[in-house]
Amino acid sequence: MDMGDILEHIFAGRWIAGTKLNDAIKSAQQFNAQGMKAIINYLGEEISDQHQVDQTMDMYVRVIRYIKNYNIKADISVKPTQLGLSITEAEALSNYSKLLKEARSSSVFVWLDMEGEHTVDSTIKMYLSEVQGGLTGICMQAYLKRTESDMQKLAKYGAIIRLVKGAYSASKSKSFTSHSEVTKNYAKLMQMEFEQFTEFTLATHDIEMIRKAQKLNETYKRKLTFAMLKGIRNGFAKELARDNRVSIYVPFGEQWVSYSYRRLKEAGHIKLVLKSLFENQGV
Ligand SMILES: Cc1cc2nc3c(=O)[nH]c(=O)nc-3n(C[C@H](O)[C@H](O)[C@H](O)COP(=O)(O)OP(=O)(O)OC[C@H]3O[C@@H](n4cnc5c(N)ncnc54)[C@H](O)[C@@H]3O)c2cc1C
Repeated sequence: MDMGDILEHIFAGRWIAGTKLNDAIKSAQQFNAQGMKAIINYLGEEISDQHQVDQTMDMYVRVIRYIKNYNIKADISVKPTQLGLSITEAEALSNYSKLLKEARSSSVFVWLDMEGEHTVDSTIKMYLSEVQGGLTGICMQAYLKRTESDMQKLAKYGAIIRLVKGAYSASKSKSFTSHSEVTKNYAKLMQMEFEQFTEFTLATHDIEMIRKAQKLNETYKRKLTFAMLKGIRNGFAKELARDNRVSIYVPFGEQWVSYSYRRLKEAGHIKLVLKSLFENQGV
């Protein structure tokens, strides 16, 4: 076992279902058995090779067919730069549309992940090109100052938003940089979701935010789902799923390095990482 294998085993093994589609399906079935839905993501990003984009498309089509054939309760979540955004916007638009055609015929919901700041305009454009056909949602990041106005715009189209704090870094002038500012903006945008959206997902492990949202929903009664990442607070997620809709993001594939790096970075402190590795999380 070389250093790469060891790191993969320690970190990726907790956060990632495995390298094969079967691993993701097995993990999704385990979460389903605990009353939770899965959000399956095939790892990969910033793909600038056409052949690799085509392979990624083929894989997502396989994922959709597996979900349908094995009767799995799962959405899929794709990164625009997996669908060709690093080649041309037209390529990404066309692939997203093809994917939705396949997904809609199998009643599978498709999420657009939100990546770095430079991809936000194109990702929103992609989403708006398909929002009317339904069965699709978009991730919005609280760390970006522009998100509030993006959400105002998206509200007019009946968008389905998955609100996150944000896993990327952006220029200081365009983003909230401290953790407390990001959390404050998350709370503000969450309030806006209750007021202006009927269906949405709050993707966070922040228990204070989750409790606030539960309280708000006693008044607003929205179609609210909580979502967490595989390997982080999944024991809590299982408890939450007793009385709430809960989904777990389940990534799989060989390209685990960037994803695991972001998880490490946001944990911010090795103690947190170790805690998440050894916590009894049920799956
Ligand atoms: C379903 C889902 C989809 C996502 N999709 C996107 C996306 O498309 N684009 C994007 O930019 N980001 C995405 N993210 C990541 C998100 O932006 C945050 O980086 C991540 O969720 C951590 O923020 P938090 O809201 O949990 O709050 P934090 O305040 O960061 O964390 C709250 C608590 O959760 C625990 N925790 C959080 N992260 C870790 C960790 N890595 N290890 C151990 N404990 C941890 C800690 O106890 C921490 O105190 C997604 C997150 C989820 C849950």
